[in-house]
Amino acid sequence: MKILCVEDDRNIAQLLQITLSKQRYQIELAQDGQAGWNLAEVYTYDLILLDVMLPKLDGITFCKQLRTNQSSNLNPNRDTPVILMTALDAVTNKVMGLDAGADDYLAKPFEIDELLARIRALFRRNQTQKTPLLTWGDLSLNPNSCEVTYREKPIYLAAKEYEILELFLRHPEQIFSTNRLLDRLWTGDEFPSEGAVRAHIKGLRQKLKKAGVRDILETIYKQGYRLKQPELLSKDCQEEITSVVSVASELKAIWEKYRDSYSDRLSIIEQAITSLENGTLTPTQQREAEKEAHTLIGSLGCFGLDTASQISRQIQQLLKQEQELEATEIAHLGQLITQLQQEISQYGCENQAECLSSASTIPSASLLIVDDDLPLAKQMAMEATNWGFQAKIAVNLQQAQEFLAHHFDVILLDINFPDSTENGLDFLAIIRKQYPEIPVVMLTAENSFAQRVEAARLGSKCFLQKPISPSQVLATVIQAIQQVKQPIARLLIVDDDPGLLNLLRTLLEPSGYHLTLLDQPHKFWETLEQTVPDLLILDVEFSVVYLSHQNSEQVNVWSGFDLCSVVRTDARWNRLPVLFLSAHTDIETIQRSFIVGADDFLTKPIVPTELLTRVRTRLEQRQLWKLTEIDALTGLSLRRKVLQDLTRLLQLAQRQQQPFSLAMLDLDNFKSINDQYGHEMGDRVLNYFGKLLNQSFRQEDVVGRWGGEEFVVGMYGTSREDGIGRLAQVLQQFSQNLFTVQNGTKFKVTFSAGIAQVPDDAKDLQTLYQKADIALYQAKAQGRNCICSAH
Ligand code: GH3
Ligand code: MG
Ligand code: MG
Ligand code: MG
Repeated sequence: MKILCVEDDRNIAQLLQITLSKQRYQIELAQDGQAGWNLAEVYTYDLILLDVMLPKLDGITFCKQLRTNQSSNLNPNRDTPVILMTALDAVTNKVMGLDAGADDYLAKPFEIDELLARIRALFRRNQTQKTPLLTWGDLSLNPNSCEVTYREKPIYLAAKEYEILELFLRHPEQIFSTNRLLDRLWTGDEFPSEGAVRAHIKGLRQKLKKAGVRDILETIYKQGYRLKQPELLSKDCQEEITSVVSVASELKAIWEKYRDSYSDRLSIIEQAITSLENGTLTPTQQREAEKEAHTLIGSLGCFGLDTASQISRQIQQLLKQEQELEATEIAHLGQLITQLQQEISQYGCENQAECLSSASTIPSASLLIVDDDLPLAKQMAMEATNWGFQAKIAVNLQQAQEFLAHHFDVILLDINFPDSTENGLDFLAIIRKQYPEIPVVMLTAENSFAQRVEAARLGSKCFLQKPISPSQVLATVIQAIQQVKQPIARLLIVDDDPGLLNLLRTLLEPSGYHLTLLDQPHKFWETLEQTVPDLLILDVEFSVVYLSHQNSEQVNVWSGFDLCSVVRTDARWNRLPVLFLSAHTDIETIQRSFIVGADDFLTKPIVPTELLTRVRTRLEQRQLWKLTEIDALTGLSLRRKVLQDLTRLLQLAQRQQQPFSLAMLDLDNFKSINDQYGHEMGDRVLNYFGKLLNQSFRQEDVVGRWGGEEFVVGMYGTSREDGIGRLAQVLQQFSQNLFTVQNGTKFKVTFSAGIAQVPDDAKDLQTLYQKADIALYQAKAQGRNCICSAH
């Protein structure tokens, strides 16, 4: 479920993002009404959470605009439910909001639990047909309310964990490989790794276990996961039931991150009170302070600081008064602000240690190092930690076997264990059997070709020869886990027979493909560009005859061959797999289809298994090809792919009359980092920067490695100014990160960036790039560590 949240109070917005994400919703944030509107015009949401007092476009107008634009295609959210949130709790405002087309209304400060209940209620109301409960023993999942309970007690799952559980409960017989789970549950733009899927499964297993549900999923050798039979459950798991953490208690932990951001607000109020005491308070100052107090009522209340919220309300009411305050009132204000400061500084302190650990910004992958050479293993573990891994060492194979149950993302395995009767290759066979999806990097001191062959046969990803430096090992490990990012495959099928299209839908949709079916060949090109498919299936002959616009006398009859030829003449599409599906079986037709560029030819009537196999094979080849579009070191798209994505996004922005910003980023004095600390250290910086960029921008943004230490970011619907804001946050985070060299030396790195915008600075990509690049040079000239605008 995708939710758009338009809220200018950053802290409330973050709070909503964190708590709603935990409830398996996908959240998109916008900080002002206009930014929210820009998103709502392009993307479809299941719900909009809307603040009323917003810069640029207020919530009531937003709502009216959403509901009145009924006919426009540019309004995909005209029927999307809206919940208004505001600190203005007067009845008239509620009426105004509901009249404007909102579905519900929530006064700040609100309880998160109440908001969640209202969201569920809205979704229930909008659900036309009820789906029955999904159960497994005493575990039940309600698809309407998205609630999971075990023996009546709720279990709180993250979005993906919930989706995984739902999928297994819906298909109790089926085995799902990690790849298949990726296809079914992740969207085209999410690009998770198989490691991420395993991490979600691990998370799900842990949460279920904590709630008392034991071993719901079984791992099937070489195939994936399957739901276990509930009757195989032992009855003794009851003692394990521990109470689940409620949303409310998690609030305190989240609050810790935001405590400091309130100091500015408090000091504005504090200064106003001091001026008041000295008799120098200006009306502007008073209004500012009142506004801050007003914001605090809602903001603090939402974090569960009820007393602080009430104190803020008292302050606001005193500051709101038109007539001059009496001395007792001024003194009272002084007391109130002191109380408020105390409340804020004390609240939730007991949770500090816990939340510091959860504040880590980039999620880390886990590495198991299996090596009897402890000093070397320790060096590698340290290096791995530097690269952002969580590393664990096993010094013998028995220990390694015990650790294996912890589901690592990647394993580094030595072959020689002189003290043991077994060697690393035996253990590799065990890993393959139990966890076929975990990549394994082999390490050996012996120069044996036979070992290499054996390791490759057993499916090892890489083979390294000692002596080798820890950083070289890590570079290889990173490559090994840089899995193909497999989104749900999109198929475009063109056939003039609607019956056949329907049949194809029935055959292909259960495999989780995203299908676009087209029975009008003349709409082919625009459909191709819109859907950006991964595979094209074409009929040879179309019986539909249609007239060209210019001359109604002229009759155009296009065949599948024509469409295929056209596809092959366009650089963007010449690698798209094309599969012909035809009733013709003559050698001439088949030959001709390969001449125009087909990759495969299937004859009608369709044999379902054959069709599925051929489609899957073509898509797998396509995935391999896509690997070449991704940079292993940073995990980002490479230039050719970036250019394609930028072109597409820019066209969309121009069609939708949206701003589009392009930023060029270049690491500062990077050569000297290589020179001082070595090339591997430089690689580590690039790897970290890639991960940071990847998690800092939205799914719809384009982020890529332009080359060397230069990166590019394309932001749809974002002005230069907003783009600078987002880059500044990234720069701040990046420049604060401490990199540690083997000898303990620590250093920091910065970057410079230039940004330009369509349509203000340029109308086409080439010029846009040049403008951004010139701005980048200006940033370098200004002393680096800054962002320059082309304007
Ligand atoms: P400026 O602040 O002006 O950008 O200085 P700079 O040193 O960053 O720029 P310069 O263009 O002189 O050097 C870029 C360096 O980046 C040179 C090159 O060796 C290094 N580099 C490029 N690609 C990689 C890579 O993949 N790994 C490592 N370690 N270094 C790389
Ligand atoms: Mg507001
Ligand atoms: Mg450079
Ligand atoms: Mg540079």
